[in-house]
Amino acid sequence: MNGQNKICVYCASSDASDAVYRNVARRLGGILTAQGYAVIYGGGATGSMGALADGVVAAGGTITGVMPRFMMELEWAHQTLTELRVVEDMRVRKHMMLSESRGLVTLPGGPGTLEELFEALTLKRLGLYTNPIVLVNTRNYFDPLLAMLEHAVAERFMHPRHVAMWQIVAEPEDVPNALANAPEWSATARSFARVL
Ligand code: AMP
Repeated sequence: MNGQNKICVYCASSDASDAVYRNVARRLGGILTAQGYAVIYGGGATGSMGALADGVVAAGGTITGVMPRFMMELEWAHQTLTELRVVEDMRVRKHMMLSESRGLVTLPGGPGTLEELFEALTLKRLGLYTNPIVLVNTRNYFDPLLAMLEHAVAERFMHPRHVAMWQIVAEPEDVPNALANAPEWSATARSFARVL
């Protein structure tokens, strides 16, 4: 399976959150596999990250983990991935995950997940990343974040056209459709990257 079929997933490392988050992550792994997608993610064994990988492996799919060396040394890596790549740092890891995938799915998570999501949104606004960005809004987790983004538009830190950069779905079962039907995005986004 080539890189064009890979979907990047950002999600939480926490095991302490409500079990529904890990259930959603596991289902997403099965759904993406059933749709013929491979998955690339951060390589972790815990929380939604581990559940996602378990879901892909259980469905017979392909999953690549990309993990900085220090996390490997801490033994944070999932043990049954198709492929585990060790990289020098967090920056290389993020770049590899985004550049090798044809779409991004973000599940609820902490600062690591949110930072990865916001980097992707920043790059998309600049036309440097043009693939779909889908958020799965389990337990309405992302509602305050979406309100913040709308506030940023209202305060004219973003153009109203920027809300087309992301799609929000309720369930992991809705993800394939959202990936397939995301509005086209290209480097022409630079023409309205700045709010005038
Ligand atoms: P968060 O949403 O804050 O849990 O962050 C998820 C991201 O945090 C992952 O992409 C990793 O960069 C990192 N991370 C934090 N803790 C772990 C862990 N125990 N195993 C793997 N990755 C982790």
